[in-house]
Amino acid sequence: MTKIEKIEVYTVRITYQEPIRISLGVSATNDEVIVKIRDDEGYEGWGEGSPSLKILGETAGTMVSASDVIGPLLIGQDPEMLNYNLKLVYEAIKGNTAVKAAYDMALYDLYTKRLKIPLHKFLGGSRDRVEVDHTIGIVKIQEAEKKAKLLVKEGFKRIKLKVGSEDDIDRVRAIRKVVGKETKMFIDANQAWSPDKAVRLIKRLEPYEIELVEQPVKAWDLSGMAFVRKKVDTPIMADESVHDAIDAMRVVKAEAADFINIKLMKCGGIREATRIADISEAAGIRNIVGCMLEGGISITAGVHFSCSTENVTFTDLDSDIGLIDNFVKNGPAVKEGYRIIPKGIGLGNLRIDKRRLKKVRVYTKLRTFSTF
Ligand code: MG
Repeated sequence: MTKIEKIEVYTVRITYQEPIRISLGVSATNDEVIVKIRDDEGYEGWGEGSPSLKILGETAGTMVSASDVIGPLLIGQDPEMLNYNLKLVYEAIKGNTAVKAAYDMALYDLYTKRLKIPLHKFLGGSRDRVEVDHTIGIVKIQEAEKKAKLLVKEGFKRIKLKVGSEDDIDRVRAIRKVVGKETKMFIDANQAWSPDKAVRLIKRLEPYEIELVEQPVKAWDLSGMAFVRKKVDTPIMADESVHDAIDAMRVVKAEAADFINIKLMKCGGIREATRIADISEAAGIRNIVGCMLEGGISITAGVHFSCSTENVTFTDLDSDIGLIDNFVKNGPAVKEGYRIIPKGIGLGNLRIDKRRLKKVRVYTKLRTFSTF
């Protein structure tokens, strides 16, 4: 039997060309945690986890600590027993979904490399490219207009606007004017509004043809979100309200959303993302796939998942586009508003710049925990 013999954990800092401001705060850099799983036949699988303080409650430091619990459980396991290994990861520790996502995608990458099949085809395969939007953060109106113009010129067919500031309505109006009727546009409030305020603002925004409104109210407030959804014509998307499949069931029960934004970092990886998509589809809710401030490995995994899942309408997998220093080359190309599956088996022929990675852990011995 083939065995997993070695796991290495790295950190890498990614930096954005410009700081990204949303209603929850501003970020210019992020520290990613990278996991490499190797078996005794020399096959390797790579994964990336991206922490978010306010959405996930994780830092690179807590991710590495949680990795000390998860990683050693996999040593000696058969890499072809994928579901068993994924169960070990998910059940090792509560929460900690970003680091679980890194392990999840590394296990999928390793498994599909062994099978010599591209990941999206292993997941069922549906298409080789998926539409991607590009996000404009909360910036001054003139700057937003300039960016929107540039994005349309680059071929993006859908723009996402972060909202939750005083000049939201003026900004949305200005951008609609700049991009014309052809470009789709949606907004993300990142929980900024009360239900009443959301209804008021969304009604005032409806003349500017907003395709959907993402997370208008607090993550916990499903009845508030259902109230907004009943009062306005614009479709509502749950993001921070849905981390995993159980959350998706709650949204279905509360009739709180028309769309659910799936993120590998929120749910712990591809396995759980599949469950959310299945629940959504059964309930007549559509999906998009989004991201945190992620680098090229996890974005690639998101593109594979999106390209295998019919219920995913489009993606918001754009966080690696604005990086000064992408440590991954040969990832999913961005072309005419689409992200295209990279060539190769597993996640693809990614070129990871190892000089950029800082090794922080190596596990070679099985270790289990008897405590709860
Ligand atoms: Mg969002």
